[in-house]
Amino acid sequence: VSAYVCELAWLGAGDVESEVVVEVEDGRFSRVGPGAPAPPRAQRLDGLTIPGFANAHSHAFHRALRGRTESDGGSFWTWREAMYSLAGALDPDRYHALARATFAEMALAGITAVGEFHYLHHGPGGAPYDDPNEIGRALVAAAAEAGIRIALLDACYLHGGPGRELEGTQRRFADADAEAWVRRVEELGGLGAGARLGAAIHSVRAVDPASAATVAAWAGARGCPLHAHVSEQPAENEDCRAAHGRTPAALLADAGALSERFTAVHFTHVEERDISLLGDARGYCLLCPTTERELADGIGPARAIADAGVRLALGSDSHAMIDHFEEMRAVELDQRLASGKRGHHTASELLRAATDDGHAAIGWPEAGRIEAGAIADLVTVALDGVRLTGVTPATALESLVFAATAADVRGVVVGGREVVRDGVHAGLDVAAELRAAIGAVTEAAVQR
Ligand SMILES: [Zn+2]
Repeated sequence: VSAYVCELAWLGAGDVESEVVVEVEDGRFSRVGPGAPAPPRAQRLDGLTIPGFANAHSHAFHRALRGRTESDGGSFWTWREAMYSLAGALDPDRYHALARATFAEMALAGITAVGEFHYLHHGPGGAPYDDPNEIGRALVAAAAEAGIRIALLDACYLHGGPGRELEGTQRRFADADAEAWVRRVEELGGLGAGARLGAAIHSVRAVDPASAATVAAWAGARGCPLHAHVSEQPAENEDCRAAHGRTPAALLADAGALSERFTAVHFTHVEERDISLLGDARGYCLLCPTTERELADGIGPARAIADAGVRLALGSDSHAMIDHFEEMRAVELDQRLASGKRGHHTASELLRAATDDGHAAIGWPEAGRIEAGAIADLVTVALDGVRLTGVTPATALESLVFAATAADVRGVVVGGREVVRDGVHAGLDVAAELRAAIGAVTEAAVQR
């Protein structure tokens, strides 16, 4: 049993409490007691301690694009060409190194579990590796080495668009058909203690309705999460309507994809009926505001979506930055700019999206709260730095959501294991690993 005394803690609901004693046994919280006597040898956590963040939507290799696509203007679609060029240069070893460093950057930012939406499956030209899941396994190993949990959301990707052939690097993403996707994913087997498997339909661009139904049926039979990119760009909606006479959300509903295990990623350009379909299914909407800004996607109607009964989750997606404080406040602040009004989402609602609901969306429902029985994740934010000093317990939650940054994270415990202490990763030199991994991938991309 290990024990902590949190100077201040937000346990996943309610107000911030003082002097909270937390005990951990076998990776789970065994006792959480505000005002309880501290056991001997309890470690003191100064600052505000919150549950671990779930980064529920990630494409780890996009990390190498950070800052490299900002000077050319263009659109989502020209950005996608840069991403394809990078994807073409990855091999399992380079991807493992890049993912490990990226997941370690997440750990430093207070992220204790990642939902890795994995679509780069095969070798150059689309030839499978000897183990057709070699890259998926490399991602699982990378998360373990970085000290965080992973949901490997294996994405089915079949087409270059409705009725369009695959082109270039897209061949590396694709299985022959949905049945081949099922066979490959079933070969993954058990992934180890810190990893769980989920399914993904890349998008209605890349997966036809019948194949979407096959993936949805597989995920339903297995009871695992199912994610899909939905209505990120207006052109996606137009193509879907032209080809199928429906919106992407309606197509996915007809394919049997929508349920309380379904997560619509982005869900930006949506109609009222799309929102009610997802709300009636009790699904999740996964917002990635820093990426949606970076790619000029637009601002989705987050308040209306939440009011329909949809739970919100957050992801850093393309990793333009990895900072869930920024993702949280962006949900509210973008609504303010779009509406001319303040006060759409409270700090505790935004924190719940980043923690409890985010973990549930990626199939770790027993994480994201500090309560007896839950997975023992603790994220401690320093309150004595220049951004947050002077905070009082009464406004600490609002200060955290609206002013903290990832650099204010001082300590991170994942499943009872200390991964970050005093702002430093316990096992890895994260900046050095990022520098080396990004350098190797970008050099290989130039040489191609
Ligand atoms: Zn994405």
